[in-house]
This record gives sequence, structure tokens and C-alpha cells, in this order.
Amino acid sequence: MDLPYLASYPETLREQARHLLGEGRLGTALLRRYPEPHAVRSDKALYDYAAQIKARHLRNAGTVNKVVFDNKIHVVRHALGLHTSVSRVQGNRLAAKHEIRVAAMFRQAPDEFLRMIVVHELAHLREKDHDKAFYKLCEHMEPHYHQFEFDVRLYLTHLDHGGGRLWGMDWLSI
Ligand SMILES: [Zn+2]
Repeated sequence: MDLPYLASYPETLREQARHLLGEGRLGTALLRRYPEPHAVRSDKALYDYAAQIKARHLRNAGTVNKVVFDNKIHVVRHALGLHTSVSRVQGNRLAAKHEIRVAAMFRQAPDEFLRMIVVHELAHLREKDHDKAFYKLCEHMEPHYHQFEFDVRLYLTHLDHGGGRLWGMDWLSI
């Protein structure tokens, strides 16, 4: 069983994931660990959410102009979100315009998953590559970063194998 989202993890972890998938229990295991979806409902709320984390940890890392949920991001391998930086001349100086796009599927997800994606994209304000310094910064912003990223990848694996969305249950609140 091929598990592309977990390719960089040790075989023992992949084996556990395969086992849960095989028994059809991966979805319920995730729901048990993360029962509640987050309450970030709009792009405006998402912007505020990211701004709050940035103000706490990356105050001097430039200005983020835009943070949005994006339907066009197809979640493949590493692209869970997207951070773009465009430099343009403003008056007589160069101003960088930062935008963060979060794959729309994380509109309905636990807070931990959204936080992991936002922390990841914010860290790119300071560190371009996925190197040691980058992950150190992610962990500084969210001490459980690695656990959350692993669980996000378990969720993607669950969906990849025909599992249904776990937190997209808006009808419950009707
Ligand atoms: Zn990245």
C-alpha cells in the first residue's frame, strides 16, 4: 500500500497507518484525537488568526497583506498551503508583498491542523527552505508542530484512500 503523504516518515509509523487503514479505523482514530473543528469561518477570520500568531512570534518579519482559503490549491505531497512573496517598487524602496493561501479543505478541520499550516506558511516569511532552521522556527511557534503535521498527513492519507471528510458536518448545526 503506497502512502505518498507519509513518504518521509519511518517505516514503523507507515506500518501503523497501513494497519489502521486496513481495518478502516484511521478516520475514527483521528476524530477521537481531534473531536472539534475550528471556528475560523471566513477569510477575514483567517487573516486575524494568522496575524495573532505572527504578532506573538514574528513581529519583525515583514507584513502579510493577505491570508485566504484557496479552492485552487490541490493538496499534493507538500503543498498544503502556499506562501508567495512579490517584491515591487513602492516610491523609492522595494516593498515585499506577502500572501498566504491555505488549501480550502482546511476550512473544515481541527484548530491544530489549521494552526500547523498557518505556522508553516508564516515561518516561510523568515526561512525559505525546509531546513533545520525552518522547522526550529515552526516548533518555536507551535511546540507540537511535528505531531500536528503527521496527523494532517494521516488525514490526507485517509482521504486518499476513499475516506470521507471528517469535520465537514455543518448540517449538524442546522
Ligand atoms: Zn513550505
